[in-house]
Amino acid sequence: MKIGVSSCLLGTMCRYDGSGAKDKFVVDELSTYFEIIGYCPEEVFGTPRDTIRLVEADDNIKVVNNVTKEDVTKRILDSSIHFAKKATQDKLCGFILKSKSPTCGMERVKIYQDGNNMNEKKGVGIFAKELRKVYPYLPIEEEGRLNDPWLKENFLMQVFAYNNLMNFLESKPSFKILVEFHTSYKYLIYAKSQASYKLLGSIVANHDKKDLEEVLEEYKINFLKAIEEKGNINKTYNVLLHIFGYFKKNLSKEEKEDILETCEDYKKGIIPLIAVTKILNMLVKRFDDSYLKTQVFLNPYPKELALRSDVRAYK
Ligand code: SF4
Repeated sequence: MKIGVSSCLLGTMCRYDGSGAKDKFVVDELSTYFEIIGYCPEEVFGTPRDTIRLVEADDNIKVVNNVTKEDVTKRILDSSIHFAKKATQDKLCGFILKSKSPTCGMERVKIYQDGNNMNEKKGVGIFAKELRKVYPYLPIEEEGRLNDPWLKENFLMQVFAYNNLMNFLESKPSFKILVEFHTSYKYLIYAKSQASYKLLGSIVANHDKKDLEEVLEEYKINFLKAIEEKGNINKTYNVLLHIFGYFKKNLSKEEKEDILETCEDYKKGIIPLIAVTKILNMLVKRFDDSYLKTQVFLNPYPKELALRSDVRAYK
């Protein structure tokens, strides 16, 4: 699995002043699970270099060298297009961008008024924009936002689901395999949006008898939109109750009360999700439930990432 990263986050000394901006999470944790590829569109200016800024002029955004005042829009745009194209060739399943940068920033990048220092944080970096054009549904986040356990959990869940979908499509699946894939994502997508799961179900049911290729393309777009949605504590709690429902008949009154209390504690933010899914996984094993064994929701990514061990990972 490959993840793209703004090169400076890897510690590469490619910033304007010849420094890097090594991000501990990217370098120490993610590199265990992903092949990480760095991209630095500003390398076209060499390092060290003058800083640049986004400037609003005549309803357009231009890029200006802060020292010489030269308009460098074309140079950074060409470089950004080049690196965005390279990113598609690299077949990524996610991207982590450097925040605040006029080139890499995903949101809230400063846009200056022409000729003065007044600015508003309302822009998108030139490369970030080009990356979104070539990869409309790629999971993309900024390193700063990944300090929020909720955004981090949602992002990595999306990355793994994105990768699974791409591998699934590359395997040239039949209608039967599509049904299996879709079923395995039932509860993960429920935890984001039941409406999305229903829509995907109607695509798979294929009442209009479309050919397989058309159905897969439609499924792909809508699956990627579904996994882009952020989960929340209430939707996740409902999924836990759904899964618990499979075992109701097999458990004693005390066991049922204990498990329901555990689900409630999760909902109240007293215990993390892993405490509940651990119990549910034990029940799946104990009663050998072949349907639930396939549910990605119960094991969406390597447990060592420990994303579900933090009560703050759900809101
Ligand atoms: S262009 Fe992007 S990768 Fe290069 S130094 Fe700036 S923020 Fe980092």
